[in-house]
Amino acid sequence: MWNYSFLFPSVLVLFTLLIFYFTRPRLSIRINRTFLAMLVLELFIIAADILSSVADEDYTDLTVGTLYFLNTLFFVLYFARAYGFFRFTADVLKLTDRRAAVVALIPFIFCEIVALSSRATGLIYRITGAGYVRGPWYDLLFYEYLVYILAALVLVFVKRRAMKPRDAAACAGYELALLTGTVVRRLAPRLLVMNTFALVGVLIIYLAFENPDRYLSERGNAFNMRGFVIVLDELARRSDHHILAFVMKNYTHERSIYGGTQTDRAIAQINGYLRESFPSCMPFYLRGGRFALLGPERLDWEAIRAAVADRFERQWFTELGTMFLQVGFAELRTQPRLDTADRIVNNLTIALELVGRPDADAPRNLVMDAEGIRKLDEEVDILRTLTGAIERGDVEVFLQPVFDSRARRLVAAEALCRIRDDTGRILPPGLFIPVAERNGLIDRLGDLVFQKTCAFVHDHDVDAMGLRWVNVNLSPIQCLRRDLVKRLTDILALYGLPAERVHLEITEQSIVDYAMMEAQIDGLREAGFRIVLDDYGSGYSNLTRVKHYPFVDIKLDMEVVWDYCQTRDSLLPHVVTAFKELGFTITAEGIETPGMADALAALGCDYLQGYLFDEPLPIEAFVEKYQ
Ligand code: C2E
Ligand code: MG
Ligand code: MG
Repeated sequence: MWNYSFLFPSVLVLFTLLIFYFTRPRLSIRINRTFLAMLVLELFIIAADILSSVADEDYTDLTVGTLYFLNTLFFVLYFARAYGFFRFTADVLKLTDRRAAVVALIPFIFCEIVALSSRATGLIYRITGAGYVRGPWYDLLFYEYLVYILAALVLVFVKRRAMKPRDAAACAGYELALLTGTVVRRLAPRLLVMNTFALVGVLIIYLAFENPDRYLSERGNAFNMRGFVIVLDELARRSDHHILAFVMKNYTHERSIYGGTQTDRAIAQINGYLRESFPSCMPFYLRGGRFALLGPERLDWEAIRAAVADRFERQWFTELGTMFLQVGFAELRTQPRLDTADRIVNNLTIALELVGRPDADAPRNLVMDAEGIRKLDEEVDILRTLTGAIERGDVEVFLQPVFDSRARRLVAAEALCRIRDDTGRILPPGLFIPVAERNGLIDRLGDLVFQKTCAFVHDHDVDAMGLRWVNVNLSPIQCLRRDLVKRLTDILALYGLPAERVHLEITEQSIVDYAMMEAQIDGLREAGFRIVLDDYGSGYSNLTRVKHYPFVDIKLDMEVVWDYCQTRDSLLPHVVTAFKELGFTITAEGIETPGMADALAALGCDYLQGYLFDEPLPIEAFVEKYQ
């Protein structure tokens, strides 16, 4: 007589695990699906074990067909268990090779065929007049387990360096539990401990890999960053998923205003809203006010974003008060075979940083297609190079000569900034100035350029070169700084230079806030600087506005110059005449041929700059040539 009493605790434990499985949020990832299959399989094995054992004892009451059915069912399920544990190990190791997966199925399928054909072959067991009897291949039950357990242990051993030590230990742990059950079953078949050891294996898996708290955010029912990375790791090789991420604008500031507790409650509410409103997506809270929804590409993501944006038009109510939150969005499609979880997370982080900025001109929604990702990658590269250059102080200043249009002799130079990447290649400012402006580096960069220009003027006999001043460009962002005048005068003082030696170029884009810019220009002029308007005609130029500012010189944008040289229309002559009447001198940029130089000189331009005279040169080359 078999004793089944110890099977009931197993059933209870399995039910408890299943209840946890279905009541707690679950990531839809491979190991979780495999684990669910294993739980269900264990329950069925126990049921089939009891039924077939009872049937075999009372075989006289049952038909031969029923006996075959119950026993075959048991063996089929029993063989599946060894493969299930092996599969779980393969999933933990993220083995995705399809051919290897097919090979790994062979022993399992072979055993299942033998089990299913037992009625005909009698290889595993037979039903005789005396009831159930083992067949000659009964030991296949033992060997199949040995094969899969040893294969799993070898895999874990081979891959141990690529695994976290605790994961490797856990894998070895449950496989060894199963091995113990297998060996004991073989040596002492009457002990019936197999199910118990399998249950120990399942518990080890639950504790090491399946505890949902590892992937859940403390703030409500969303998953955390760890869960996000795990899901992305699995999806990164596919292209059918979409990520809609959003960030609370100005998060740190909001948090300090509303307080941590209230902000956290609102975050929990947002997580709850996401889970309820978009059941076919997984919601994540990635800390720092950053959320992500991940789901299949086929959903209407436009509508999902609109719905979320719409919800943020309204308040969030918490027990501690209501909150109005503004968000910026970033969207991304998982790319086939291209992305690693790291790259996706990096790109999202940068995109969320951009859309999370509090300023009004921050983008509201960034869609990251392949092109967008390429751009972000490029921006990251440039930012890295730029930060390094600024930290080491090796920002280079190139000088481009400015010629007097009548005497055709050197009168000035424009300082143009360059940096070098890891390979020593020079990056043009068109690439890195906007990056510096976006990332708060433009002030330090501007200071360095200004300082190096002053050093050049200080260290060389510029008068002997005929150089009366050097132009330095100011970014619109620098013009917004209240301490601009002080920063520049401090550097000048360091070299004991008079401010007239440096002309500051600003563009019309700097003049957004008239009053502010007027005050800034007044301050600069009081400190002795001369201000030049750069790139005139490149944007929506405004003659009346220009007239109100005390510029000493107006630089015509290259495009304007080139356009005039091609069409010779009367527009530019009129503009130049008007400026001259107002008392400005004029510089023509982008002069590339003697014909252009003559045409612009004839118009009345005072100064000429362009490749005809020279490209921007490194300081040493400039000194060499013009001293
Ligand atoms: P920009 O101030 O208008 O400078 C003139 C640009 O035209 C320079 O480009 C120069 O190399 C280029 N150039 C000069 N002559 C010719 C010509 O004959 N043909 C053509 N095709 N191009 C010519 P670069 O050095 O690439 O600088 C681009 C822009 O980057 C500058 O335009 C300026 O706005 C900005 N920049 C450069 N250095 C600095 C800096 O230190 N600070 C700031 N804020 N901006 C800078
Ligand atoms: Mg310039
Ligand atoms: Mg210019």
